[in-house]
Amino acid sequence: MVSIAVQLDRTPRPPGARSSCDDRLAGGPWALDALPGLPAPLPEYGPGSSAADPAPAATPVQAVIPAEYRTAPPEQLRARIRAAKAALGERVVVLGHHYQRDEVVEHADFVGDSFLLARQSQTRDAAEHVVFCGVHFMAETADLLSRPEVSVVLPNLAAGCSMADMADLDSVTACWEQLAGVLGPLDQPGPDGRLPVVPVTYMNSSAALKAFCGERGGIVCTSSNAAAVLAWAFERGQRVLFFPDQHLGRNTASAMGVPAGAMPVWDPRKPLGGNQAGALADARVVLWRGWCSVHTRFTPAQVAAARAADPAVRVVVHPECPQEVVDAADDAGSTEHILRVVSSAPPGSSFAIGTEVNMVRRLADAHPDKTITCLDPVVCPCSTMYRIHPGYLAWVLEALVRGEVVNRVRVDDAVAASARVALERMLAVHP
Ligand code: SF4
Repeated sequence: MVSIAVQLDRTPRPPGARSSCDDRLAGGPWALDALPGLPAPLPEYGPGSSAADPAPAATPVQAVIPAEYRTAPPEQLRARIRAAKAALGERVVVLGHHYQRDEVVEHADFVGDSFLLARQSQTRDAAEHVVFCGVHFMAETADLLSRPEVSVVLPNLAAGCSMADMADLDSVTACWEQLAGVLGPLDQPGPDGRLPVVPVTYMNSSAALKAFCGERGGIVCTSSNAAAVLAWAFERGQRVLFFPDQHLGRNTASAMGVPAGAMPVWDPRKPLGGNQAGALADARVVLWRGWCSVHTRFTPAQVAAARAADPAVRVVVHPECPQEVVDAADDAGSTEHILRVVSSAPPGSSFAIGTEVNMVRRLADAHPDKTITCLDPVVCPCSTMYRIHPGYLAWVLEALVRGEVVNRVRVDDAVAASARVALERMLAVHP
């Protein structure tokens, strides 16, 4: 058994450094899922990188699972998961996101990023159930892409994504209406044949927001194809409304030559997002004020420290990092891009990686001939991903063996139809 529930917050950090890591995460999600007062929403996403972000009222709450799964020793859980998978055979596919802990990933039939996993699961024709060890929007996407008879199961319903939850349908709809107030009807093309605004949502968003885009000439993007998708949107729109991650939007548009002054940030708590009407009229990209709690931990000072420690190091970061970090790094790209860069480098290469620590550790284990470290010395996993404890995986799999489907994630048919429109546009741009 490889344990990752270690080394949280042990390294002294510089004065003023921001961290929300603490050792409570090492104990598993039980205490958080069993907070007094359930089913009231949790006040926060829990210890770890998402702790500082308040969970919205609609955040799903996971019911307490039987004690046998919460108290079983790791080896027993591992044996039970294996036995349940063997009993289910080809009827089940277990998907593991790169950011999951090792004790979960070891049981995955496929490991990858969210969209890759959702598509890979479709390659198993005999599968009746997809168990998605990731977060809520990923399970929704898998459901959108699955055959209707396939059930998609999220082992812990409280495994959300703090970034995805920063943009909800009501606040994006309110933004859209305010933009219409400034720019005029948003469904009528201007003299150049382009719409005033094209909405673009990152894959890390609810199905309802994907549907919002599908219904308004918009599209979905991933961190792999954001530039191609933005180019598509600029062909069809004078402006882009990009949500929920301001950093992916800013990094991508900046690399395409959009000046910083043409990218106002929309704060959903303020009238006009906190902007003057003129700034919105002059905008090329309106960036939603959302962020990833994990990737915004990385700083230019960490990049400088990595270079000072090893002048030969290559710093590779995820585009959800702030722009100043991406600018300071040698390279930026999706998780799959980071994997390719490291895998293709010659032995002896040295990397400092700016992404979630579980993936960095596995990369280091897979490439013992290279030096691979996490850019942030205060390692901190994504606490919402971390809610998928092996106990939950054992619970959902053994339920499937008994013929019970627990924690199924289903997207409403009407929402799904519009969301698929936005996904299909993305696939047409970037298969
Ligand atoms: S790493 Fe960031 S974007 Fe990914 S699930 Fe965690 S909070 Fe969401």
